[in-house]
Amino acid sequence: MKSFLPHVEHLPVYEPGRPIEDVAREQGWTDVEQILKLASNENLLGPSPKAVMAMQAAAGTMHVYPDGGTWALREKLASHTALTPDHILPGNGSNELIELLGHVFLEPGRNIVMAETAFVVYQLVATAFQAETIRVPMKDYTHDLDAMQSAITEDTRLLFVANPNNPTGTMVDPNRLLAFLDETPDHVLVVVDEAYVELVSQNLCPDVLSEIRNGRSNLMVLRTFSKAYGLAGLRLGYGMASPELVRLLNRVRQPFNVNAMAQTAALAALDDSEYVLASRELVQAGRVHFEALCRELRLEFVPSEANFMLIRVGDGRRVFEALQKRSVIVRPMNAYGLPEHVRVTYGTTDQNEVFAEALRNCHQEGLLS
Ligand SMILES: *Cc1c(COP(=O)(O)O)cnc(C)c1O
Repeated sequence: MKSFLPHVEHLPVYEPGRPIEDVAREQGWTDVEQILKLASNENLLGPSPKAVMAMQAAAGTMHVYPDGGTWALREKLASHTALTPDHILPGNGSNELIELLGHVFLEPGRNIVMAETAFVVYQLVATAFQAETIRVPMKDYTHDLDAMQSAITEDTRLLFVANPNNPTGTMVDPNRLLAFLDETPDHVLVVVDEAYVELVSQNLCPDVLSEIRNGRSNLMVLRTFSKAYGLAGLRLGYGMASPELVRLLNRVRQPFNVNAMAQTAALAALDDSEYVLASRELVQAGRVHFEALCRELRLEFVPSEANFMLIRVGDGRRVFEALQKRSVIVRPMNAYGLPEHVRVTYGTTDQNEVFAEALRNCHQEGLLS
Protein backbone atom coordinates (compact mmCIF):
# COMPACT_ATOMS: atom_id res chain seq x y z
CA MET A 1 0.00 0.00 0.00
CA LYS A 2 2.34 2.76 -1.18
CA SER A 3 -0.39 4.63 -2.98
CA PHE A 4 -1.62 6.74 -0.05
CA LEU A 5 -1.18 10.51 0.11
CA PRO A 6 2.26 11.06 1.67
CA HIS A 7 1.21 13.88 4.02
CA VAL A 8 -1.25 11.59 5.84
CA GLU A 9 1.53 9.59 7.42
CA HIS A 10 2.83 12.74 9.10
CA LEU A 11 -0.45 14.14 10.38
CA PRO A 12 -0.30 14.85 14.12
CA VAL A 13 -2.63 12.77 16.27
CA TYR A 14 -5.04 14.43 18.71
CA GLU A 15 -4.23 13.52 22.30
CA PRO A 16 -7.56 13.21 24.15
CA GLY A 17 -8.10 13.19 27.89
CA ARG A 18 -7.39 9.65 29.10
CA PRO A 19 -10.48 7.45 29.43
CA ILE A 20 -11.10 6.18 32.96
CA GLU A 21 -11.04 2.53 31.81
CA ASP A 22 -7.59 3.00 30.26
CA VAL A 23 -6.08 4.38 33.42
CA ALA A 24 -7.72 1.69 35.55
CA ARG A 25 -6.26 -1.06 33.34
CA GLU A 26 -2.79 0.48 33.41
CA GLN A 27 -2.75 1.00 37.18
CA GLY A 28 -4.31 -2.41 37.85
CA TRP A 29 -7.36 -0.96 39.58
CA THR A 30 -10.59 -2.93 39.40
CA ASP A 31 -12.85 -0.20 40.73
CA VAL A 32 -13.31 2.47 38.05
CA GLU A 33 -15.65 4.33 40.42
CA GLN A 34 -12.68 5.52 42.43
CA ILE A 35 -11.19 7.35 39.46
CA LEU A 36 -11.99 11.01 38.94
CA LYS A 37 -11.60 12.32 35.40
CA LEU A 38 -11.15 16.09 35.22
CA ALA A 39 -9.37 16.00 31.88
CA SER A 40 -11.88 16.72 29.10
CA ASN A 41 -14.06 19.59 30.32
CA GLU A 42 -17.05 17.28 30.57
CA ASN A 43 -20.03 18.23 32.73
CA LEU A 44 -19.54 16.39 36.01
CA LEU A 45 -23.24 16.72 36.82
CA GLY A 46 -23.84 13.94 34.29
CA PRO A 47 -26.31 14.38 31.42
CA SER A 48 -29.48 16.44 31.72
CA PRO A 49 -32.08 14.18 33.45
CA LYS A 50 -34.69 15.19 30.88
CA ALA A 51 -32.35 14.03 28.11
CA VAL A 52 -31.79 10.71 29.88
CA MET A 53 -35.54 10.07 30.12
CA ALA A 54 -36.06 10.93 26.47
CA MET A 55 -33.23 8.60 25.41
CA GLN A 56 -34.62 5.71 27.44
CA ALA A 57 -38.00 6.19 25.80
CA ALA A 58 -36.44 6.34 22.32
CA ALA A 59 -34.20 3.26 22.62
CA GLY A 60 -36.79 0.99 20.96
CA THR A 61 -36.88 3.02 17.74
CA MET A 62 -33.17 2.91 16.94
CA HIS A 63 -33.70 0.58 13.95
CA VAL A 64 -34.89 3.64 11.99
CA TYR A 65 -32.44 6.02 10.28
CA PRO A 66 -32.27 9.46 11.86
CA ASP A 67 -33.88 12.54 10.34
CA GLY A 68 -31.09 13.51 7.94
CA GLY A 69 -32.39 17.07 7.75
CA THR A 70 -32.54 17.44 11.58
CA TRP A 71 -35.78 19.38 11.13
CA ALA A 72 -37.14 19.31 14.66
CA LEU A 73 -33.76 20.11 16.16
CA ARG A 74 -33.09 23.03 13.81
CA GLU A 75 -36.58 24.42 14.51
CA LYS A 76 -35.99 24.28 18.22
CA LEU A 77 -32.49 25.72 18.01
CA ALA A 78 -33.89 28.48 15.81
CA SER A 79 -36.41 29.43 18.44
CA HIS A 80 -33.69 29.39 21.13
CA THR A 81 -31.38 31.61 19.11
CA ALA A 82 -33.97 33.81 17.32
CA LEU A 83 -32.54 32.70 13.97
CA THR A 84 -34.31 30.73 11.25
CA PRO A 85 -33.65 26.99 10.68
CA ASP A 86 -31.78 27.71 7.43
CA HIS A 87 -29.10 29.51 9.47
CA ILE A 88 -28.35 26.35 11.48
CA LEU A 89 -26.36 23.20 10.73
CA PRO A 90 -26.02 20.43 13.37
CA GLY A 91 -22.99 18.17 13.20
CA ASN A 92 -21.37 15.13 14.80
CA GLY A 93 -19.89 17.34 17.50
CA SER A 94 -18.83 20.86 16.62
CA ASN A 95 -15.57 19.17 15.64
CA GLU A 96 -17.31 17.84 12.53
CA LEU A 97 -18.30 21.36 11.54
CA ILE A 98 -14.66 22.43 11.71
CA GLU A 99 -13.86 19.60 9.32
CA LEU A 100 -16.73 20.57 7.00
CA LEU A 101 -15.28 24.08 6.88
CA GLY A 102 -12.05 22.45 5.72
CA HIS A 103 -13.88 20.72 2.86
CA VAL A 104 -15.42 23.99 1.74
CA PHE A 105 -12.47 26.37 2.20
CA LEU A 106 -9.11 24.65 2.48
CA GLU A 107 -6.57 23.19 0.04
CA PRO A 108 -2.78 23.44 -0.41
CA GLY A 109 -1.68 27.07 -0.72
CA ARG A 110 -4.42 28.40 1.56
CA ASN A 111 -4.08 29.07 5.28
CA ILE A 112 -5.95 29.52 8.54
CA VAL A 113 -5.18 32.02 11.30
CA MET A 114 -5.53 30.99 14.95
CA ALA A 115 -4.12 31.95 18.34
CA GLU A 116 -0.93 30.24 19.50
CA THR A 117 -2.56 28.44 22.42
CA ALA A 118 -6.08 27.76 21.19
CA PHE A 119 -8.07 24.58 20.46
CA VAL A 120 -5.69 22.27 18.53
CA VAL A 121 -8.41 20.79 16.35
CA TYR A 122 -8.33 23.90 14.11
CA GLN A 123 -4.74 23.17 13.20
CA LEU A 124 -5.30 19.42 12.85
CA VAL A 125 -8.06 20.02 10.31
CA ALA A 126 -6.01 22.57 8.37
CA THR A 127 -3.09 20.14 8.22
CA ALA A 128 -5.35 17.33 7.01
CA PHE A 129 -6.37 19.54 4.07
CA GLN A 130 -2.70 20.45 3.49
CA ALA A 131 -3.36 24.08 4.34
CA GLU A 132 -0.95 26.17 6.42
CA THR A 133 -1.66 27.28 9.97
CA ILE A 134 -0.58 30.75 11.05
CA ARG A 135 -0.38 30.73 14.85
CA VAL A 136 -0.44 34.16 16.43
CA PRO A 137 1.12 34.82 19.88
CA MET A 138 -1.35 35.67 22.62
CA LYS A 139 -1.40 38.50 25.15
CA ASP A 140 -1.91 37.38 28.75
CA TYR A 141 -3.18 33.99 27.53
CA THR A 142 -5.87 35.84 25.52
CA HIS A 143 -6.44 36.09 21.75
CA ASP A 144 -4.65 39.18 20.41
CA LEU A 145 -7.16 40.28 17.79
CA ASP A 146 -4.99 43.11 16.42
CA ALA A 147 -2.09 40.74 15.85
CA MET A 148 -4.44 38.17 14.31
CA GLN A 149 -5.75 40.77 11.91
CA SER A 150 -2.20 41.68 10.88
CA ALA A 151 -1.41 38.00 10.30
CA ILE A 152 -4.09 37.63 7.61
CA THR A 153 -2.70 37.10 4.10
CA GLU A 154 -4.45 36.96 0.74
CA ASP A 155 -4.43 33.17 1.09
CA THR A 156 -6.17 33.16 4.48
CA ARG A 157 -9.64 31.61 4.37
CA LEU A 158 -10.56 30.81 7.99
CA LEU A 159 -9.77 32.68 11.21
CA PHE A 160 -10.68 31.00 14.51
CA VAL A 161 -11.55 32.73 17.77
CA ALA A 162 -12.46 30.38 20.63
CA ASN A 163 -14.43 32.47 23.12
CA PRO A 164 -13.95 31.45 25.91
CA ASN A 165 -10.78 29.81 24.71
CA ASN A 166 -9.74 26.25 25.45
CA PRO A 167 -7.26 25.62 27.16
CA THR A 168 -6.87 29.11 28.68
CA GLY A 169 -10.50 29.92 29.60
CA THR A 170 -10.01 33.56 28.59
CA MET A 171 -12.40 35.75 26.58
CA VAL A 172 -11.87 38.64 24.18
CA ASP A 173 -13.37 42.08 24.74
CA PRO A 174 -16.92 41.82 23.32
CA ASN A 175 -16.90 45.22 21.59
CA ARG A 176 -13.49 44.61 20.12
CA LEU A 177 -14.68 41.34 18.57
CA LEU A 178 -17.67 43.03 16.93
CA ALA A 179 -15.45 45.76 15.48
CA PHE A 180 -13.03 43.05 14.35
CA LEU A 181 -15.77 41.47 12.22
CA ASP A 182 -16.18 44.76 10.37
CA GLU A 183 -12.44 45.15 9.82
CA THR A 184 -11.74 41.61 8.58
CA PRO A 185 -11.42 41.37 4.79
CA ASP A 186 -14.20 39.60 2.91
CA HIS A 187 -12.14 36.62 1.78
CA VAL A 188 -11.77 35.48 5.41
CA LEU A 189 -14.51 33.65 7.33
CA VAL A 190 -14.31 34.38 11.07
CA VAL A 191 -15.26 31.29 13.09
CA VAL A 192 -16.26 32.13 16.65
CA ASP A 193 -16.23 28.93 18.71
CA GLU A 194 -18.61 29.35 21.66
CA ALA A 195 -18.36 25.85 23.12
CA TYR A 196 -18.73 27.16 26.69
CA VAL A 197 -21.06 30.10 26.09
CA GLU A 198 -24.00 28.78 28.14
CA LEU A 199 -21.74 28.75 31.20
CA VAL A 200 -20.55 32.36 30.88
CA SER A 201 -22.21 35.47 32.30
CA GLN A 202 -24.16 37.18 29.52
CA ASN A 203 -22.44 40.56 29.72
CA LEU A 204 -19.08 39.03 28.78
CA CYS A 205 -20.39 37.53 25.51
CA PRO A 206 -20.39 39.56 22.30
CA ASP A 207 -23.79 39.30 20.60
CA VAL A 208 -22.50 37.47 17.54
CA LEU A 209 -25.88 35.90 16.78
CA SER A 210 -27.43 39.26 16.03
CA GLU A 211 -24.65 39.79 13.49
CA ILE A 212 -25.79 36.62 11.72
CA ARG A 213 -29.44 37.63 12.12
CA ASN A 214 -28.60 40.94 10.42
CA GLY A 215 -27.10 39.21 7.42
CA ARG A 216 -23.38 39.19 8.13
CA SER A 217 -21.81 36.66 5.77
CA ASN A 218 -18.18 36.49 7.00
CA LEU A 219 -19.07 34.86 10.34
CA MET A 220 -19.81 31.37 11.61
CA VAL A 221 -20.60 30.62 15.25
CA LEU A 222 -20.04 27.14 16.70
CA ARG A 223 -21.79 25.72 19.75
CA THR A 224 -22.03 22.27 21.29
CA PHE A 225 -24.08 19.96 23.49
CA SER A 226 -20.86 18.51 24.93
CA LYS A 227 -20.31 21.01 27.74
CA ALA A 228 -23.19 22.87 29.41
CA TYR A 229 -25.71 20.21 28.26
CA GLY A 230 -23.58 17.28 29.42
CA LEU A 231 -23.95 15.18 26.25
CA ALA A 232 -20.34 14.83 25.06
CA GLY A 233 -20.72 11.08 24.51
CA LEU A 234 -23.44 11.58 21.92
CA ARG A 235 -21.37 13.90 19.69
CA LEU A 236 -23.59 16.84 18.83
CA GLY A 237 -22.72 20.41 18.01
CA TYR A 238 -24.10 23.03 15.65
CA GLY A 239 -22.95 25.90 13.52
CA MET A 240 -24.80 29.13 12.76
CA ALA A 241 -24.05 31.16 9.66
CA SER A 242 -25.63 32.75 6.61
CA PRO A 243 -28.06 30.43 4.74
CA GLU A 244 -25.65 30.56 1.75
CA LEU A 245 -22.79 29.12 3.79
CA VAL A 246 -25.06 26.56 5.48
CA ARG A 247 -26.10 25.34 2.01
CA LEU A 248 -22.46 24.85 1.00
CA LEU A 249 -21.61 22.99 4.20
CA ASN A 250 -24.66 20.76 3.69
CA ARG A 251 -23.17 19.54 0.41
CA VAL A 252 -20.07 18.09 2.03
CA ARG A 253 -21.60 16.38 5.05
CA GLN A 254 -22.75 12.79 5.34
CA PRO A 255 -26.52 12.38 4.85
CA PHE A 256 -27.02 11.12 8.43
CA ASN A 257 -24.25 12.95 10.25
CA VAL A 258 -26.25 13.43 13.46
CA ASN A 259 -27.51 10.19 15.02
CA ALA A 260 -31.08 9.71 16.19
CA MET A 261 -30.25 9.33 19.89
CA ALA A 262 -28.38 12.63 19.84
CA GLN A 263 -31.31 14.42 18.19
CA THR A 264 -33.73 12.99 20.76
CA ALA A 265 -31.52 13.92 23.71
CA ALA A 266 -30.83 17.42 22.45
CA LEU A 267 -34.52 18.24 22.00
CA ALA A 268 -35.14 17.29 25.62
CA ALA A 269 -31.99 18.97 26.96
CA LEU A 270 -32.97 22.28 25.37
CA ASP A 271 -36.08 22.24 27.61
CA ASP A 272 -34.00 21.60 30.72
CA SER A 273 -33.15 25.15 31.75
CA GLU A 274 -32.91 24.02 35.38
CA TYR A 275 -30.05 21.73 34.47
CA VAL A 276 -28.18 24.44 32.55
CA LEU A 277 -28.60 26.73 35.54
CA ALA A 278 -27.19 24.06 37.83
CA SER A 279 -24.26 23.59 35.43
CA ARG A 280 -23.54 27.30 35.55
CA GLU A 281 -23.62 27.26 39.36
CA LEU A 282 -21.23 24.30 39.38
CA VAL A 283 -18.79 26.34 37.30
CA GLN A 284 -19.02 29.36 39.58
CA ALA A 285 -18.47 27.23 42.67
CA GLY A 286 -15.60 25.39 40.98
CA ARG A 287 -13.88 28.64 40.08
CA VAL A 288 -14.04 29.92 43.67
CA HIS A 289 -12.82 26.57 45.01
CA PHE A 290 -9.89 26.30 42.57
CA GLU A 291 -8.80 29.91 42.97
CA ALA A 292 -8.69 29.47 46.74
CA LEU A 293 -6.68 26.27 46.33
CA CYS A 294 -4.16 27.97 44.04
CA ARG A 295 -3.70 30.81 46.52
CA GLU A 296 -3.25 28.34 49.36
CA LEU A 297 -0.54 26.46 47.44
CA ARG A 298 0.90 29.64 45.90
CA LEU A 299 0.30 28.47 42.35
CA GLU A 300 -0.22 30.78 39.40
CA PHE A 301 -3.46 30.25 37.48
CA VAL A 302 -5.16 31.82 34.47
CA PRO A 303 -8.51 33.40 35.47
CA SER A 304 -11.09 31.40 33.51
CA GLU A 305 -14.67 31.98 32.35
CA ALA A 306 -15.17 28.32 31.36
CA ASN A 307 -15.56 25.06 33.34
CA PHE A 308 -11.83 24.46 33.76
CA MET A 309 -8.68 26.19 34.92
CA LEU A 310 -5.12 26.29 33.66
CA ILE A 311 -2.80 25.94 36.65
CA ARG A 312 0.95 26.41 36.60
CA VAL A 313 2.37 23.54 38.60
CA GLY A 314 6.01 23.44 37.45
CA ASP A 315 6.53 20.16 35.62
CA GLY A 316 3.07 19.54 34.18
CA ARG A 317 3.68 16.00 32.95
CA ARG A 318 5.14 14.92 36.28
CA VAL A 319 2.25 16.39 38.27
CA PHE A 320 -0.21 14.78 35.83
CA GLU A 321 1.40 11.41 36.58
CA ALA A 322 1.48 11.99 40.33
CA LEU A 323 -2.21 12.93 40.33
CA GLN A 324 -3.02 9.91 38.20
CA LYS A 325 -1.44 7.65 40.86
CA ARG A 326 -3.89 9.30 43.26
CA SER A 327 -6.80 8.42 40.92
CA VAL A 328 -7.29 11.91 39.52
CA ILE A 329 -6.90 12.42 35.76
CA VAL A 330 -6.08 15.98 34.61
CA ARG A 331 -4.73 17.16 31.27
CA PRO A 332 -1.03 17.84 30.72
CA MET A 333 -0.50 20.76 28.35
CA ASN A 334 2.67 19.82 26.45
CA ALA A 335 0.70 19.47 23.21
CA TYR A 336 -0.32 23.12 23.67
CA GLY A 337 3.23 24.30 24.32
CA LEU A 338 2.58 24.82 28.04
CA PRO A 339 4.74 22.15 29.73
CA GLU A 340 4.50 23.89 33.11
CA HIS A 341 0.70 23.80 33.28
CA VAL A 342 -2.09 21.32 33.75
CA ARG A 343 -5.72 21.97 32.78
CA VAL A 344 -8.28 20.81 35.30
CA THR A 345 -12.07 20.62 34.82
CA TYR A 346 -14.32 21.64 37.72
CA GLY A 347 -16.41 18.88 39.27
CA THR A 348 -18.89 18.80 42.12
CA THR A 349 -17.80 20.21 45.48
CA ASP A 350 -16.82 16.73 46.71
CA GLN A 351 -14.86 15.97 43.54
CA ASN A 352 -13.11 19.32 43.70
CA GLU A 353 -12.06 18.51 47.25
CA VAL A 354 -10.66 15.12 46.13
CA PHE A 355 -8.56 16.97 43.54
CA ALA A 356 -7.53 19.57 46.12
CA GLU A 357 -6.32 16.87 48.52
CA ALA A 358 -4.38 15.13 45.76
CA LEU A 359 -2.73 18.41 44.76
CA ARG A 360 -1.89 19.21 48.41
CA ASN A 361 -0.24 15.79 48.52
CA CYS A 362 1.87 16.70 45.51
CA HIS A 363 2.78 19.93 47.27
CA GLN A 364 3.88 18.11 50.42
CA GLU A 365 6.07 15.82 48.33
CA GLY A 366 7.74 18.85 46.79
CA LEU A 367 6.43 18.11 43.29
CA LEU A 368 5.09 21.62 42.71
CA SER A 369 7.27 24.58 41.91
C1 LIG B 1 -15.06 21.08 23.93
C2 LIG B 1 -14.87 22.01 22.81
C3 LIG B 1 -15.59 21.86 21.64
C4 LIG B 1 -16.65 20.81 21.53
O1 LIG B 1 -16.43 19.89 20.57
P1 LIG B 1 -17.56 18.79 20.27
O2 LIG B 1 -17.05 18.18 19.02
O3 LIG B 1 -18.84 19.53 20.07
O4 LIG B 1 -17.59 17.88 21.43
C5 LIG B 1 -15.38 22.75 20.60
N1 LIG B 1 -14.51 23.77 20.72
C6 LIG B 1 -13.81 23.96 21.85
C7 LIG B 1 -12.90 25.13 21.96
C8 LIG B 1 -13.96 23.08 22.92
O5 LIG B 1 -13.26 23.26 24.03
